[in-house]
Amino acid sequence: MEPYPAAPASPAPATQLDRLRRWSSYTSFLVAVLLAIAKISAWFATDSLSLLATVVDALVDIFASLVTVLGVRFAQRPADATHRFGHGKAESLAALIQALLLAGASGVLVVDGIRRIMAPPPLTHLSFGLNVIAGCTVVTVLLVIFESHVARRTQSQAIAADRSHHLSDVAANLAVLLALFLTRQTGWPHFDALFAMAIAGAFGWSAFVIARMATDTLLDRELSGEDRERISQLVLAHPSARGMHDLRTRSAGQHQFIEFHLELDSKLSVNEAHAIVDDIERSLKAALPYSEVIVHVEPENIDDERLDDRIRSGPDP
Ligand SMILES: [Zn+2]
Ligand SMILES: [Zn+2]
Repeated sequence: MEPYPAAPASPAPATQLDRLRRWSSYTSFLVAVLLAIAKISAWFATDSLSLLATVVDALVDIFASLVTVLGVRFAQRPADATHRFGHGKAESLAALIQALLLAGASGVLVVDGIRRIMAPPPLTHLSFGLNVIAGCTVVTVLLVIFESHVARRTQSQAIAADRSHHLSDVAANLAVLLALFLTRQTGWPHFDALFAMAIAGAFGWSAFVIARMATDTLLDRELSGEDRERISQLVLAHPSARGMHDLRTRSAGQHQFIEFHLELDSKLSVNEAHAIVDDIERSLKAALPYSEVIVHVEPENIDDERLDDRIRSGPDP
């Protein structure tokens, strides 16, 4: 038989990951300020709407990065008297605010795009605009590479949201490059507004994706089917576990909360049952280092009212 509990995995120390998350949000903020300044100067020079789209976006970025810095900081605060499950959901709240900002910016750009299609203003200093946006694209690509690394290591939702947004920035920058280039080569006046509205559409979509991810956490969506399966297997692998039911899980920031009913031999003493539960908690913690486990112990074959039954009789998810 396998030794129980399973050998613990060795996750990176939590403090090191916290520092990485903080550095990532500071970098994101500084880069956003520099890009905003560069893009504002290019927008003034050219009066291009697609450039304005990236300016608006850069300003949203600054605000969003601030929210992310505060959100990540707040989310890392340990549990206290009034928030005994910790503050992990602050990250999801930060991501949701970022999504709302993006959605608003998207709407404004579409309206102005329509206005400009009807009366296109002339664009000026196109080569200067092209150079600035090319430089901004390179910087943003570097930022995405850095944030991909951090998001993978820390599992931070806020940083993942920031990263996926910066990825859409790269696409937006390339679209502006193309719009200005085509305008300069052909002189047709509508490229700029059309590309600006395409960028606005992309903002809207990424706002939707971020908002959905954040609301999943805020509304206590279950962990993945794989994680649930893994948890059940670990629990039932204990030789004294006779069964389990009503497993439910949720996550907040990097933490997961796991609870279930554990069925044991009814003849066991409280001491024996407690030792078994401690074993199981230890093996779950080894598999999911940021998890908190709450177990309700029951004699096997008890006929209780079960969440599992209520859910099975309801509509499928
Ligand atoms: Zn039960
Ligand atoms: Zn205990």
